[in-house]
Amino acid sequence: MTSKILISACLLGQPVRYDGKGKPLIHPAIDRWRQEGRLVTICPEMAGGMPVPRPPAEIEKGASGLDVLEGRARVMEISGGDVTAEFIAGAEKALALAEANGCAHALLIDGSPSCGSVAIYNGSFSGVKHGGNGVTAALLEKAGIAVFSPADIDRLDVLTC
Ligand code: SF4
Repeated sequence: MTSKILISACLLGQPVRYDGKGKPLIHPAIDRWRQEGRLVTICPEMAGGMPVPRPPAEIEKGASGLDVLEGRARVMEISGGDVTAEFIAGAEKALALAEANGCAHALLIDGSPSCGSVAIYNGSFSGVKHGGNGVTAALLEKAGIAVFSPADIDRLDVLTC
């Protein structure tokens, strides 16, 4: 199925991360999807109104994206700012973009409190991760969009070719 794929902007090298950098994923499938016009790009945090650069943020207390969406946890900056509303707004914009483009799959960078799909940081800003997803990944999955991490790109390529 040659449908479009929602992708984290930083995976394409766009300088949208909290530190003003990108994190490009080098893989032949990325080039092919780009040439085929199948990539739908978004940075949920910027779409939610966050600037670049911005303070690092994590989901508090070892919670995950679904906990944030259902009001059981917040997304906090290392500086103490509550950015829950921005993260939820960005997730909603990512979902709206995916649905408008008919994306059944998303390729999102792992580890992020927005885009992470396998593991995220535990809220202590100590570099410790736990199994769980970010706010955007959780909202996409809730809506039936299959979310893949970069480690799983080959499986996504097979599924969508
Ligand atoms: Fe990359 Fe997603 Fe973070 Fe934006 S929100 S910088 S796309 S991981």
